[in-house]
Amino acid sequence: MTANLATQTCNPSLSVVIPVYNEEDGLQALFDRLYPALDAMASKRNIAYEVVFVNDGSKDRSAGILAKQVELRSDVTRAVLFHSNFGQHMAIMAGFEYSRGEYIITLDADLQNPPEEIDALVNELLKGHDYVGTIRANRRDSFFRKFASRAMNHLREKITRITMTDQGCMLRGYSRRIVDLVRQCDESNTFIPALAYTFASNPTEISVKHEERFAGESKYSLYQL
Ligand code: UDP
Ligand code: MG
Repeated sequence: MTANLATQTCNPSLSVVIPVYNEEDGLQALFDRLYPALDAMASKRNIAYEVVFVNDGSKDRSAGILAKQVELRSDVTRAVLFHSNFGQHMAIMAGFEYSRGEYIITLDADLQNPPEEIDALVNELLKGHDYVGTIRANRRDSFFRKFASRAMNHLREKITRITMTDQGCMLRGYSRRIVDLVRQCDESNTFIPALAYTFASNPTEISVKHEERFAGESKYSLYQL
């Protein structure tokens, strides 16, 4: 079952899509940084935004916390609630379905991608780049997680023949056109940044800060990766 808790009417320019799986301990800290960063960005650049949270079948209180946040910031917040766990990329796909912005940014819920960096991505999108990749400056993950990523990047490059400097970082910006093309692919088991990159005509990459997970642990084992 999917419940869409939509409330606003006007069309925003920027949609921020955030997949959430068992993040109850970190969501408030995310809200505390995300909304001020977006509000500052919106008034500085005079563009409207929306946040689309996708609860990916969390077994903890994440769904309730998100529903509450939709009430608190109903002017800019929507949530899609999955009944069960479909995985991060399917959650982002659902977020794409509900997003209405001309520009779309994806962000992890665990504060590993600083929300304050969103403005830098918006800057590149406004310049006309249709795909904004990010490179994590001094990546803050465990040795195992980094090792697993290196192996996965290698495998992914072999399969997709696509080379990106840092494929794992989910803080990324896309134009509406790219998101619509990704949606049309109707892939159920896809790695969105790589798929989106194949459609980019004017891509760019910027360096962003990377932080340790605010709370909880990585949801990925080597098998899942
Ligand atoms: N996530 C999700 N569904 C899943 C696993 C993860 O929506 O099945 C979300 C998670 O809540 C986070 C993002 O995807 O917002 C990245 O997950 P995580 O931080 O565990 O991955 P890592 O940083 O280790 O790549
Ligand atoms: Mg993470």
